[in-house]
Amino acid sequence: MQYFNEDTIIYHNGAFAKAIDSKIDLFSQSLHYGYSVFEGIRAYSNVDSKSKIFKADEHFERLKNSALAINMPYPFNKTELIEATYKLLEMNALGDAYIRPLVYAPANMTYALNTESFITIQVWPMQPFLGDKLLRIHSSSFQRPNPNGFKIHAKAGGHYVNSIIASQDAKMKGFDEALLQDMNGYVAEGPGANVFMEKDGKFFTPSLGHILPGITRATVLEIMKDFDLSCEEKKITHDELKIADHVFFCGTAVEVLGWQSLDDHMYEKPWAESISNKIEKAYKALVREDFATYNHIKSTIK
Ligand code: PMP
Repeated sequence: MQYFNEDTIIYHNGAFAKAIDSKIDLFSQSLHYGYSVFEGIRAYSNVDSKSKIFKADEHFERLKNSALAINMPYPFNKTELIEATYKLLEMNALGDAYIRPLVYAPANMTYALNTESFITIQVWPMQPFLGDKLLRIHSSSFQRPNPNGFKIHAKAGGHYVNSIIASQDAKMKGFDEALLQDMNGYVAEGPGANVFMEKDGKFFTPSLGHILPGITRATVLEIMKDFDLSCEEKKITHDELKIADHVFFCGTAVEVLGWQSLDDHMYEKPWAESISNKIEKAYKALVREDFATYNHIKSTIK
């Protein structure tokens, strides 16, 4: 995947610059220790062919809260950042795009507080993340970080070493993706996605505390409420997942994507006939502001 070419423009500390001319300090505390925060956002061409950032406010709020959670100075203004992102999409002629803001630290080899932070926003054409085929999931032996040792609700760079090793391990074993437990052995989340299960027309998802509070997770909960579907946030065991009718991952990159199997267990009921599949379609309509399709899907829920 090529993220940029010689024409690509990025946003860097208040200015627009060519990606190929932009530099970071190799002595940055972020590079050495993973002490950074970032966001994963998407823009979609909507029904009027305008590029619209999905839940821009929520993502830039989370960026700020992630930074503050790990004591990074955050002198940036949300409105300015959102405006800069729209400008970037225009300058790079992107409709459907992935947007990556990153807040990073200055040169600092100690663990002392910094007095400044830097910011960059990068955009690139969105590629399918895990594809659109149902997923074959591996129960990872890696657990999510202990919330007593990490600010697990923050989207901090260093946390993703855990995601990377779990995902690589699953793929090396022939699966599409990993599922991680929390430190107590309950179902937590994927390396970059939250999880929901459907059983007898009802939905369940792991409660907050050991997971990243996903913006897609919140959107799925909003859709379920709007569709009058019941969803309980609770501790979920691996055995419960195996007797579910359907399970899906959700996240900005993956959107809503169903599972084919968990280890050697196959989900036999057809995904196309599930309510989860309607949630998937409703989500895809919502991000493109296709309210006619969204309302039509809503009308098919009994
Ligand atoms: N969990 C983790 C660990 C993630 O990295 C992500 C992706 N940001 C998610 C869940 C889903 O979050 P969101 O819906 O906000 O993209």
